[in-house]
Amino acid sequence: MDKDELIHLHVDVDLPYRWAAGRYGSIMLKALRDEKKILGNCCPQCNKVYVPPRVVCGPCFVAPDEVVELSDTGTLAGYSVVNYPFIDPETGQKRPVPYTYAYIQLDGCDSYLSHLIDETDPARLSPGMRVKAVFRSDADRVGRLQDILHFKIIE
Ligand SMILES: [Zn+2]
Repeated sequence: MDKDELIHLHVDVDLPYRWAAGRYGSIMLKALRDEKKILGNCCPQCNKVYVPPRVVCGPCFVAPDEVVELSDTGTLAGYSVVNYPFIDPETGQKRPVPYTYAYIQLDGCDSYLSHLIDETDPARLSPGMRVKAVFRSDADRVGRLQDILHFKIIE
C-alpha cells in the first residue's frame, strides 16, 4: 500500500443521550425556563454561592442547600475567541465561527459560569468588563443553560 494513501471513511452515528440534571440543576433550569431567573445555591458554612448549583461545597464538604437568586449581570473573568469549527453536540452541525466562549462571574456569586459572549473581536474584549444575560424568548426556552442565548457587554 502507498504510505501516502489515506482512506476516508464516512460513518453516521446515531447516539441518543440524556441524563438527569439533579435536584439543584432541575431547580435552576426550571427557573431559567419559566421565570428567566438565574438561581444558584449557597453553602451554609462558608457562604460561597455557586452557579450552576453544586451538590457539595468542595472546601466544606457540606450540601449548599440554600437556593439563591442571582443577578443576570456579572463580570467577564476570561474568554477565548474560537476560530476552529467543531460539531456542536446540541445541533449535530458545525458551529459557525468565530464565537467567544467565556467565564462569567455573576454578581453575588463566587463561582464562574461558562457561556457565550456576543462579541468576537478580541480588541473589544477585556477581563473585568461588565456583561448581562440575554435570554431566549418565552417560546424558545426549554430548560437548558442555552435558555440564556449569550451575554452582552454592557459597559
Ligand atoms: Zn462551603
